[in-house]
Amino acid sequence: MKTKKRLLIPLLSILAGSTAWAETPEDYRFPRECTTTDAGYPVPLCGKPLTKTPVIAKQKGDKPLKKYPEYFIPEKETLSDNEMRITAVGSGNPPVRRGQAATSWLVELGNGDNFIIDAGGGTVPALWSLRIPLASFDKLFVTHLHLDHVGGILNLWDSMGWARNTPLHVWGSSGSTPELGVAAFVENIEKAALWHTVSKTGIIAGDGMKIVAHEFDGQQFTPEKPRALVYNENGVKIYAFPVDHILIGAVGYRLEWSGMSMVYTGDSIPTKFEAEQAQGVDVFIHELFIDAPTFSEKNSMPLKIAENVVNEHTPADMLGRVFSIAKPILGVGTHFFVNDYTIDPAFAGIASNYDGPVVIAQDLMVINVTPEQIVTRMAKTDLLSWAAPAPRAKGQKPPKLDPAPTEGRTQSWVTKTRF
Ligand SMILES: [Zn+2]
Ligand SMILES: [Zn+2]
Repeated sequence: MKTKKRLLIPLLSILAGSTAWAETPEDYRFPRECTTTDAGYPVPLCGKPLTKTPVIAKQKGDKPLKKYPEYFIPEKETLSDNEMRITAVGSGNPPVRRGQAATSWLVELGNGDNFIIDAGGGTVPALWSLRIPLASFDKLFVTHLHLDHVGGILNLWDSMGWARNTPLHVWGSSGSTPELGVAAFVENIEKAALWHTVSKTGIIAGDGMKIVAHEFDGQQFTPEKPRALVYNENGVKIYAFPVDHILIGAVGYRLEWSGMSMVYTGDSIPTKFEAEQAQGVDVFIHELFIDAPTFSEKNSMPLKIAENVVNEHTPADMLGRVFSIAKPILGVGTHFFVNDYTIDPAFAGIASNYDGPVVIAQDLMVINVTPEQIVTRMAKTDLLSWAAPAPRAKGQKPPKLDPAPTEGRTQSWVTKTRF
């Protein structure tokens, strides 16, 4: 039936003299048939989340639970007032792969707010494919300034400049010196992008080409003051707390809204402290790293270097320990190389210390959180998606164009030869 229908639509369009081909994102298929690993987990990239607990009821009772379609299709589901949707925009590592970009998470709330946490390399196309008005993406929280977490900022900033005429706001920590903080990072991005912004002045809205840093003090934390409220608007509270990741300035975030909560810790060597910061959350997203010999072999990396990298991260059995203290309703391992042969050892390692519900993230995995349940699915999105229709974001004024530059323009002997 499906095949017939798909052939019929273009044929009818031709007969009707129309060039409008049906745009049906549902027709985008995952690249693989779904089989399972030896331990019974779906294989990566087959359209199923990597878990055995895709649906978790939070409370026992007779109330019927909301049913979700098998896949999340952009624009086809609206969030209810009391619902949170968390999307793995990028679930991978610095060696960005076509099937797994670096790190980025999107948190959408039923009140209309959304938050991007980290914007690693290669993540922006997946974000755009979610068909959310680009103008509404203006809040980015950065866990730390490793490029696999911030390497996509230029792309994020640029793409949004087309659709938005308000600045991109970036929250993040200070470092141990002014040069190592998020404010200096943003200032340097603006300096590096000067040719870009000067050349576009007078063509696109100037305010959309601005980035504003909101740097909080990364050295304020103590055992007595383990976390700081760094965002508090519209009923949304976001707390930052330090994590053990090489330098001062690496933080995790805990977002609380309407009785629901999520924590994302960025990168870290596992600690009891960070586990305690995530206690009782609905969704705890924590990094997970493959073992050094596999990392070394698959990336053609000397074992010593692979060990150095792995030692700054979280092996599977330690993630189990972290989850066993935090006891989230759903534990999420991310920043992991998902391959058929990496899945089972990771789940086995986690299970050696923890028996609660766990999922390993893939790009475009979607988690819906309500007071009643947590449901994990995969999204299907259009590979050639256009920008979503853009109702003006709240508070946005009509675009204002600054005067175009008069100095330093392309030499007249070149422009005189224009056709
Ligand atoms: Zn990282
Ligand atoms: Zn890092």
